[in-house]
This record gives sequence, C-alpha cells and structure tokens, in this order.
Amino acid sequence: MSMNDKTDIVSSCANCGKGEEESGNLKKCGACKMVKYCSTNCQQAHRPQHKKECRKHVKELHDEKLFKQPPPAEDCPICFVRLPALDTGWRYKSCCGKVICSGCYHAPVYDNQGNEVDKHKCPFCRTPTPYTDEEINERTRKRVEANDAYAIYDLGCDYRDGESGLRQDHTKALELLHRAAKLGYTNASVCIGYAYDNGRGVEFDSKKSTYYYELAAMRGNVIARHNLGNNEAREGNIDRALKHYMISARDGYADSLETIQRLYSNGFATKDDYTKALISYQAYLGEIKNVQRDEAAAFTEDYRYY
Ligand SMILES: [Zn+2]
Ligand SMILES: [Zn+2]
Ligand SMILES: [Zn+2]
Ligand SMILES: [Zn+2]
Repeated sequence: MSMNDKTDIVSSCANCGKGEEESGNLKKCGACKMVKYCSTNCQQAHRPQHKKECRKHVKELHDEKLFKQPPPAEDCPICFVRLPALDTGWRYKSCCGKVICSGCYHAPVYDNQGNEVDKHKCPFCRTPTPYTDEEINERTRKRVEANDAYAIYDLGCDYRDGESGLRQDHTKALELLHRAAKLGYTNASVCIGYAYDNGRGVEFDSKKSTYYYELAAMRGNVIARHNLGNNEAREGNIDRALKHYMISARDGYADSLETIQRLYSNGFATKDDYTKALISYQAYLGEIKNVQRDEAAAFTEDYRYY
C-alpha cells in the first residue's frame, strides 16, 4: 500500500493522531484533500512536514485534469455532424445564437416545397442577414442581454480592437471576455491568456496566461492546447509537450500532428506515438468530413475546415 492510499483511508488527524470520534470534526487539507486535521493548530504544526507531499499531490491532481481528452465539440444543429475545430469551419449566427457548420452555411436552403430559400437568410432560423453596422450591433446587444457567450465575446473583441464603431477600451473588453470565458467559451479564455502573455490591458503575468490557456485547452480548444505543447517543448519537457500534441491532434489540429511527425523524425517521439496520433487525427476527419463542407471549402478558402 502506498503512502497516498494510507492517508486516504486513515481518518485521524495527520498531526496528533486524534480520531474522528475524539475530535468530531476533522477537516481535510484544502489543497490536496489527502490528509485531515483536528484543528488549525495541528494543520499549521504539520505544514513543514506535509508541504512537499502536498504540492506534489496538487500537481498530480492538476495534471490528471489537464491531460484528459476533452469531450468532443457539439454537432452542427442542421446536419448533426460534429463541428470542426477550426474557426473557419463554422459561423456563429447572432439571429438565433446558433453555431452552424461552413457546409450548411454555404449550401442552398430549400423550403418544404423544394424552392430555394433566399441566400441572405440564416439557414437555421431564416432571419434575413443584417447589412448595416447599426443592425449588426443591435442584434449583438440583444444576444449579450440574453447572456450568449459568443455575442459577449464578439462585443469584447470589438472593444479590444476599437471596431464596429466602438471606442477602444481594454478594461471593458477584458470584462466581457471574462464573462464569455465563465460561460465556457474557450476563445474568450485564449484571448485573456493572450492579454496576460503580452501585457495588453493588464500587467504581464505568465502564470495567469498559462491558467487561461489551460482552461481553454481543458474545454477542447486545440490552439490553446497546441501552444501549451509548444511552451513545454521550449522548456525541454518533451513528454509533457507530446501529451498536449496528442490531445490536440485527436481533436483535429493538423499542426499538432505535423509537430509529432517532426518529433518522431528527430528521435524525440516513437513511431508508436506518431502512428497513434495519425490514427486519431484520421478518426477526427471521419467524424467531421461531409460533402457539403467539402463543397464549401472548394468554393472559398474562408470555409477551410481541416
Ligand atoms: Zn490534531
Ligand atoms: Zn495537503
Ligand atoms: Zn452543418
Ligand atoms: Zn439564425
């Protein structure tokens, strides 16, 4: 039995040994949750002895979460095929708040009688496409009020870049990006990470930047994941880098697959690693490829989806 198993089972104060019956209220170490204490005094007294083990365990817990394959992206609400990882593979519609794949976005839409529906209508809700800045802003504003993460993100980007007739405002931009990130929109987390990485609107902070990149990566953002891999590789942590690249290759990031191939040619990864990555990337392609999306991609580079 390892130390960890023991501490997990034992239900007594790690410092004085008092049992649950005696003390009545043992509290777990808030960081590692592996040991218990009868009092704050005992916890403080035990800290020098526990510190190292505690940090090690916290890191292990974190890595366990970090290196898990995230759940796959949702399906397109029209064709029910998994949405591509690349941003160019889908469009957000501010009329209905739906994310539609490039294939369905580009394909002609027919009504019940088989007549082609006006091209300038949303393929999901049939609302006409807005043309003026005012119309677009008004729609975004309504979606922001409805707490739509994509719209909040768009507005945040407009403030960040001073676009759509808005004055550049980094504070306001970050406030909105944080709101979108909290709602689970990973591109927003990436932007916050980028802001900390480059001291844009905030003070440079590499720890915070990593935190937001990791948050995005754990929710399936392949670009954040690939960048985390690059950071690890730069530090010489090839094992950790490879773990990141494997995950982003599985989720459809071709650059990660290419990087693994390069690592393999240079002797930093095994043939097995590369084969595994290749197979999983091909499995991803099998999940996202369809004729409509291919047609859209052939029509314009803007619809490239893998
Ligand atoms: Zn105690
Ligand atoms: Zn601890
Ligand atoms: Zn679709
Ligand atoms: Zn719509």
